[in-house]
Amino acid sequence: MKQRIVGFHQDEFGDWVAELSCNHQQHVRHQPPFQLRPWVISEQGRRQQLGAELECSKCDREPDYLHENRSLVRRYYDELWNQRQLNQVSELLASDFRFRGWTGFVAQGHAAFRDYVEQIRTAFPDLHYQVEWMLAEDNRVVARVNCTGTHRAKIFGIEPAGGHFSCVLFDTFTVGGHKLKSAWAIADRHELICQLKAISTP
Ligand SMILES: [Zn+2]
Repeated sequence: MKQRIVGFHQDEFGDWVAELSCNHQQHVRHQPPFQLRPWVISEQGRRQQLGAELECSKCDREPDYLHENRSLVRRYYDELWNQRQLNQVSELLASDFRFRGWTGFVAQGHAAFRDYVEQIRTAFPDLHYQVEWMLAEDNRVVARVNCTGTHRAKIFGIEPAGGHFSCVLFDTFTVGGHKLKSAWAIADRHELICQLKAISTP
């Protein structure tokens, strides 16, 4: 099935990956360096070489409910975190949504989740989550996400110095009744804290 290409990113091995509108990813070029394939590293070149769509064989093998689960997780990052549309909370999250953030914060329910988003966005106002891949099976979704932001308020006891950070995190979700029932985030906190400290210590 042909799917629209909605973006590109490099994975942990430096390979280029196309993000498809069906929420699947597809490798488009393996193994850096890319000097011999300059089209890989320019957006215009990729558009010329690949076009606007790619065939997605994963879609044909996957049942509809897994598409729906992936789509919920995609919207969780895009709408609730990146676009901060907190009015979408009741559409995407079950009323007893259970949550553990990568800071270790644990909460249940919509109001507590909204407070947490606000708290994190205060520390990192430009926080952005880039989904690298998702695995969906039964009622579970696991996502590997790259998180970036600029440190603007005290967190983990570290005073802000306006430094930029980038860290990897894994989120596991459970889904039920067409909504997310739980999310559990695990970040490379050691790496994150080292980055924040390195920036704030002159
Ligand atoms: Zn697909």
